[in-house]
Amino acid sequence: MADALIIGEAAGGAPASAALECIAAARSLGVERVHALLTGPAAAAAAPGAIAGGADAVYTAADAEELDAQLDAAQAAAAQSGARYVLGAKTLAGRDVMPRLAFRLGTALASDCSSVALDGEGRLIATRPVYGGAAEAAVACLGDPAVASLRPKSVDPLPPDASRSGETTPLAFEANVRTRTLERVEEAGEGVRMENARVVVSGGRGLGGPEPFENELRELADMLGGAVGASRAACDAGWVPAGYQVGLTGKTVTPDLYVAVGISGASQHMAGCGNAKTLVAINKDAGANIFKEARFGVAGDWRKVLPAFIEQLHELMG
Ligand SMILES: Cc1cc2nc3c(=O)[nH]c(=O)nc-3n(C[C@H](O)[C@H](O)[C@H](O)COP(=O)(O)OP(=O)(O)OC[C@H]3O[C@@H](n4cnc5c(N)ncnc54)[C@H](O)[C@@H]3O)c2cc1C
Repeated sequence: MADALIIGEAAGGAPASAALECIAAARSLGVERVHALLTGPAAAAAAPGAIAGGADAVYTAADAEELDAQLDAAQAAAAQSGARYVLGAKTLAGRDVMPRLAFRLGTALASDCSSVALDGEGRLIATRPVYGGAAEAAVACLGDPAVASLRPKSVDPLPPDASRSGETTPLAFEANVRTRTLERVEEAGEGVRMENARVVVSGGRGLGGPEPFENELRELADMLGGAVGASRAACDAGWVPAGYQVGLTGKTVTPDLYVAVGISGASQHMAGCGNAKTLVAINKDAGANIFKEARFGVAGDWRKVLPAFIEQLHELMG
């Protein structure tokens, strides 16, 4: 029976949620052991969280902050674990590290996967969106080890089990850092982070400008304790920062409630919000694709619908 290794980051004393998602995906393969590499100064403090989240053994690489060092650590962890399956998240770091890791291991990468499974011969079968999210392709990873990167928020982490035990080992590796991060700029954002929000209120080209994002959408999101998102069209128009973008080339969100205002529902947008529990659409075109995806829809001009919606909500919330 083979082992799996996940490549993850640690922050604030806990494994990054994307790392816990990878551990859950690795566990779902039914492998014997799941090894987890945690990088960053918080790695040791985060190790118990990774074990509670389903890892059997944790390698910590506290010094591996730079991407080059994360890559060196990942290569060392792959060699030490002897894992047949290596999973990482397609985070900012993962986009850089995972393809380079696959190259160094002399294998291929299945990138941007929404799920992974094993076939009867133990080959890793990775499912990934193709044609702009309009279809899914299942690809068999024939390389050894099989390396795949998972889209964040595609897999739910396992419920933490504090009774699980596992060993934690500081990883011995040599870092060869050739590129350094000179500055980190925190994305300016108001309120709740979209990736973790239970409610996301998103706007599209149909809003016609930046003002409704600052006013109606923000008001509604704040009332519901949620975050504001946007389609690529709205971001490209400069109405909101690029960090607001939901979709194939933006963020993936899985809120309980996703409200799409003036968004047509292109497959590339739906790739980022299609797993929301309840989708509500407001669009003046009753034939818009978003109504095929939405659980509830209002065919009308947002200028009329949204203020009425907000007023009603004020009444309901007292
Ligand atoms: C490779 C690739 C990657 C992409 N990645 C993404 C991505 O990550 N995220 C993303 O969003 N898109 C992405 N796109 C773009 C995507 O194909 C669409 O072009 C985009 O989602 C359209 O944005 P929209 O729905 O806001 O605009 P539109 O398609 O123009 O829709 C605007 C909608 O607003 C409605 N409307 C207009 N006025 C009103 C009104 N007064 N009241 C109510 N409704 C109104 C219209 O009926 C229409 O349905 C990608 C495209 C490509 C090719």
